[in-house]
Amino acid sequence: MKIERIETLVCHARMRNWVFVKVVTDQPGLIGWGEATLEWHTRGVTGSIDDLAPLLIGQDPTRVEHLWQTMWRQHFWHGGGIVRSTAISGIDLALWDIVGKAANLPCHKLWGGPVRDYIRLYCHLGGGNMESFYETRVEESARFADLARQAVAQGFTAFKAMAAPPTMPLEGLKPIKAAEACVAGMREAVGDDIDIMVDCHARPSPAMGLKLAHALDPYGLYFFEEPCWPESIEGLARINAAVATPIATGERLTHLAAFRDLFAQRGCDVCQMDLTHCGGFTEARRIAALAEAHRIALAPHNPQGPVSTAASLEFGFSQPSYIICETVHNDVPWRSDVVQEGYTLDKTTRTVRPNTQPGLGVIVNEEEVRKHPFEQEVLQRVNHPDGAVGDW
Ligand SMILES: [Mg+2]
Repeated sequence: MKIERIETLVCHARMRNWVFVKVVTDQPGLIGWGEATLEWHTRGVTGSIDDLAPLLIGQDPTRVEHLWQTMWRQHFWHGGGIVRSTAISGIDLALWDIVGKAANLPCHKLWGGPVRDYIRLYCHLGGGNMESFYETRVEESARFADLARQAVAQGFTAFKAMAAPPTMPLEGLKPIKAAEACVAGMREAVGDDIDIMVDCHARPSPAMGLKLAHALDPYGLYFFEEPCWPESIEGLARINAAVATPIATGERLTHLAAFRDLFAQRGCDVCQMDLTHCGGFTEARRIAALAEAHRIALAPHNPQGPVSTAASLEFGFSQPSYIICETVHNDVPWRSDVVQEGYTLDKTTRTVRPNTQPGLGVIVNEEEVRKHPFEQEVLQRVNHPDGAVGDW
């Protein structure tokens, strides 16, 4: 079997352009699907896939590890940067899809699964109203509480919110109290049996992340995400050691070495490697093995499109330390028209039973994809009140 060509299909889905990767073999009808979505970098990723394709054309697609090493190590520049790592990831997912189809097995069965009967899903409530977060603490708290009740009414037993305002490198009590009010509102609305997560989007400095973590610790968050820049491992480790709430990070990291350094300093208790950025299944399985040795839980980052979700679930059914799957269920109303999935979703409990189809179990409807061509993502800027640049 040989790889004939690699194509990318871009599908504009409101917040981001989904990049689907199609690896076509010389076997009639045998193709692999992956996803390499990287918001605000769509053309960089599709260009990077075009750059990698000549290394792969004519090669046996089932030699996945060999091809991964080829993509990461050849042509001098290693593949650790986010754009090329995302391109490698999308191709790697598609190669594993081909391996599964060739073996007539779902991907998780290639890796010794399923290790569990079902996977729990969590949804995202979105962010706070950034302009008025400070001034309308009571209204923001009530708004988050409403969104939390809606998620639970839809069957979710866990949800995540960006209930922490952007902060300058050092601020006083105001943003801390605003975040605390929002989390208190959500906890009061849904009770103790529902798991609440808060994502800081790596906006705080380590000092502000520590203050937020302390303030929110009494509310028993399931995890507290990116309380400072991922580049500051010592900051993450300091926060993780200071509170009972598990710290989560990893969505922006690529390559095993970055996770080695993070785990060695205990910068997190929840690893959020992204299967479409970290190097695909091939690298994620290595990261998972390392996490296992540290007893660090896995909750992969997954706000992208439906092929990414299928990949996260295949991974989860093969990994004992996988705890929960992030899902986006209300980004575009035509989401399910674009991709047909092989797994079974129970909407009353928001749990998923394993995929029964070969590979990732997804069928991409290319006609539907073509109805939503590339559009530039909405520009996003965060500036502090004094005009200095903050983090989005
Ligand atoms: Mg995040």
